[in-house]
Amino acid sequence: MGKECPRCGRIRLKEPIETNSISSEDKKTYICSDCGINETRILFYLAKSMDEKIPDEQKEMSKKFRERLGLV
Ligand SMILES: [Zn+2]
Repeated sequence: MGKECPRCGRIRLKEPIETNSISSEDKKTYICSDCGINETRILFYLAKSMDEKIPDEQKEMSKKFRERLGLV
């Protein structure tokens, strides 16, 4: 049984760890593939200045994750 995804805390990471996604926040922390997709989507929207397209839940999740990584 893998450990929980450090971003969403809901989904367990797959084994082996390399089969999960790497966070674009710090480029080294493994997250679940759902979070990987969401991070990519958020970066895309931010790049296009479409911040309003990002669900509040995802914004909150990203914020908490960055805090956890010590990036803020
Ligand atoms: Zn996740």
